[in-house]
Amino acid sequence: MEFLILGSGASEGIPSGWCLCDFCVKARAAGGKNIRTRTAFQLGDTIRIDWGPDSVAQAFRYGLEPWKLRHVFITHSHEDHLFPMDFWSRGVSQLPAGEAGWLRVYGNKESLALIERAIGGNWEKNRLIPVRMEPGKSIELPEEGWKVTALAANHTSPEQSLMYLFESPGRTLLISGDTDVFPEATLRQLAGCRLDLMTIDATWGMEDRHESHLGVPNGGSIVEQLRELGIADDKTRVVAVHFGHGAGARLHHELEGLLAPFGMEPGYDGMRIAVPTRSDAQTE
Ligand SMILES: [Zn+2]
Ligand SMILES: [Zn+2]
Ligand SMILES: [Zn+2]
Repeated sequence: MEFLILGSGASEGIPSGWCLCDFCVKARAAGGKNIRTRTAFQLGDTIRIDWGPDSVAQAFRYGLEPWKLRHVFITHSHEDHLFPMDFWSRGVSQLPAGEAGWLRVYGNKESLALIERAIGGNWEKNRLIPVRMEPGKSIELPEEGWKVTALAANHTSPEQSLMYLFESPGRTLLISGDTDVFPEATLRQLAGCRLDLMTIDATWGMEDRHESHLGVPNGGSIVEQLRELGIADDKTRVVAVHFGHGAGARLHHELEGLLAPFGMEPGYDGMRIAVPTRSDAQTE
């Protein structure tokens, strides 16, 4: 099974479409891993995390088959993570027959409300099943063999942004989404886990800055805290995503060197990470 980073940029993407700042000019000229669409992830063929405004283009770029998706997890309602019209377009598409044509959409009440408005309230016509998530709630995906738990992120208020913890025997992934310093309750819920892979917000780049997101230095402090608590260790891959174009922005090859001392690596659009299959994990 594969974890695919579809996009690794913050809300404006990199380079920001309108922007003539020194960094965006450099990123535009350098191209390659410096071109970042809005952050989203796919896990295998059937699981998606976030559905931003670049989703259709990302599906073309990576040859995805979105009709095979069965579960979409939305972290929060910001437009860079949720483009509701794409759920409306299911209603004017030929979907697979029977059970295979239904898609479960998991999210907080604000995210589900935006989708509901886009589809005129007709979940059934669009063959969508809304599943309201809140911190601490777990659901099982028996076909994929995952237990997925929503945890509190620290990003929006009063809206409760979510992280998603994916657990299966021998493999544990944390998609921490847009967040500032992790809430205490989330650290308590992670106790006893040992993460194989986590993604972490790096909006502010090399700036040690908070304001509803993280930069690399303060993200690094969280990773250190997770290591002290035994939730992460030196085998945990920590992949930074959601890069913005602010004062802390750096080109991808610079980030590789700058993130290493924090035990992190920079994600990029099209990055593929092998996740052991259930049978591999069980025979280890
Ligand atoms: Zn965002
Ligand atoms: Zn810029
Ligand atoms: Zn956000």
